Amino acid sequence: MSDTRLQDHLTDPFAKAYPETREFWEAAERDELLLKSCEDCHQPHWYPRVVCPHCGSPATIWVKASGRGTVYSYSRVERADPPYTLAYVRLEEGPTLITNIIDSDWPSVRIDASVQAVFRRTQEGRKMPFFKVVDRAD
Ligand SMILES: [Zn+2]
Repeated sequence: MSDTRLQDHLTDPFAKAYPETREFWEAAERDELLLKSCEDCHQPHWYPRVVCPHCGSPATIWVKASGRGTVYSYSRVERADPPYTLAYVRLEEGPTLITNIIDSDWPSVRIDASVQAVFRRTQEGRKMPFFKVVDRAD
């Protein structure tokens, strides 16, 4: 990617502090969620690491995730203005990550609800994955 957004996000202190996550942020600019997976034990993991947390192998690679998952647990922060919803989402590929549920009516957020990754630009300028509740028969 050679556009100015990449240049911009590399000045983002967070992205700059973790250069090993550069591919993740580049993919997020394309609305793609990447996971790290291991070429030795073939298990994906979250958060992205250079050494596999399952077997200790340094042979980790980026793989494109489906962006599909289910709510494992959640908490509504009503005292914030505006209120927001924190959740653990279990990805279809296996790993669980902490995120915010957005663009979803509050009553639709429940354990085991189907969710899909959606990308929004933060105040710092980088695009980040969040999740929204979707109707999916699976
Ligand atoms: Zn491994």
